[in-house]
Amino acid sequence: MLELNPFKIAQKQIDIVSKEMGLDPNITRYLKRIERALIVSIPIMMDDGSLQIFEGYRVHHSTVRGPGKGGIRFAPNVNLDEVKALAMWMTWKCSLLKLPFGGAKGGVCVDPRKLSKKELERLTRRYTSEIINIIGPEIDIPAPDINTNAQIMSWVLDVYSMQKGRTVPGVVTGKPIELGGSLGREQATGRGLYFVVGTMCKKLNLTLKSQSIVVQGFGNVGGTIANLLFEEGCNVIAISDISGGLYFSKGLDIDKLLDWTRSGNYLKDYQDDRYKLISNDDLLTTECDILIPAALENQITGANVDDVKCKIILEGANGPTTPEADNVLFNKGIHVIPDILANSGGVCVSYFEYVQDIRAYFWDLERINKELNRIILEAFEEVYLVYKERNISLRTAAYIIAVSRIARAIEFRGIFP
Ligand code: NAD
Repeated sequence: MLELNPFKIAQKQIDIVSKEMGLDPNITRYLKRIERALIVSIPIMMDDGSLQIFEGYRVHHSTVRGPGKGGIRFAPNVNLDEVKALAMWMTWKCSLLKLPFGGAKGGVCVDPRKLSKKELERLTRRYTSEIINIIGPEIDIPAPDINTNAQIMSWVLDVYSMQKGRTVPGVVTGKPIELGGSLGREQATGRGLYFVVGTMCKKLNLTLKSQSIVVQGFGNVGGTIANLLFEEGCNVIAISDISGGLYFSKGLDIDKLLDWTRSGNYLKDYQDDRYKLISNDDLLTTECDILIPAALENQITGANVDDVKCKIILEGANGPTTPEADNVLFNKGIHVIPDILANSGGVCVSYFEYVQDIRAYFWDLERINKELNRIILEAFEEVYLVYKERNISLRTAAYIIAVSRIARAIEFRGIFP
């Protein structure tokens, strides 16, 4: 049976790695639990005078190594188990990169496309006010995720700062430069993906610019990586958003498509006779060299994995591949660069943003990208070494490193009291 509950999948991933590394069963049980979860009701007066009540969450999986860190997602199918899984993945991601943060995540079950800007602002402000006691620069620092952006982060910052009676830039990352945001943060996740895939190609003796690319999701992460690879000279042959996908074997004009979607349009409405409309399901099984899922979790599963035809899967999204599919891909020799490594550029530059806010001293873009390159590729090399030594998947290798670091931190601290 297909297991698609993200939290059960995240727990299963810990079981797999615990077995591989012989982790103390007590620590395994500890890591499979979350520290805390807050469920809140968000009543909003809609523009038409009706009252709607939305449900929101903020979860801390582990704050053993520092304050929680993780995005806020606004989407119609957000639920507690999804947020718990996303919080857990953040713990491993921060640990893998040696960032002094734990794992957290938040979300509101809402379709933001159905809200006016004013309704969205009221929703963000009330949600922030409901979770205010468990966020803060020393507690848990939110950031953007699906359907949230620098404007939403500005409202979170404003609510928090008004309650504190002073401006607190360090409460969120991914905010506008004018409010203490960092250069390079918006592009950071895509840029990290680009550094990682370039290095992976070198390891496999492949020339990056000769690879054909398919990208699912054309938002912050998918749009940025598609554009960086397009600028590199790669043929980006298919992309998609929530409305569907476009395919052209000779390569899509990514720059024009970005202008189109950034003006608020859907890909399915783009007019170019050369392009074929395809579904998101077809996109995932399109033959290519590098497949980049950059939308949602559970996209490559037991149901479609046999039809996936690529050399490398670069996980831009969190949790796009299920453990069942992982097994099949490993046996087929398809290299899966796991989310906790591949898409960690976002939290890495969020860390730079946090440091810049605390020091009140801001870096130039060259320094940001150089430090990002250094940190993410150091993690890549560490993962690659374990992967080669043990002949396991890149995901299991990354988990061994990330989980060991957390396990050691717990052992040093001891279990309170
Ligand atoms: P976004 O809202 O900017 O873009 C999401 C994209 O996915 C949009 O193009 C949307 O149309 C598309 N999409 C939504 N539902 C879809 C569906 N059912 N089928 C196909 N496409 C769909 O979000 P984002 O920030 O780019 O996040 C995308 C993924 O990357 C998420 O899994 C997120 O957790 C992960 N991620 C984001 C960051 C970051 O810095 N933003 C960092 C690490 C990981």
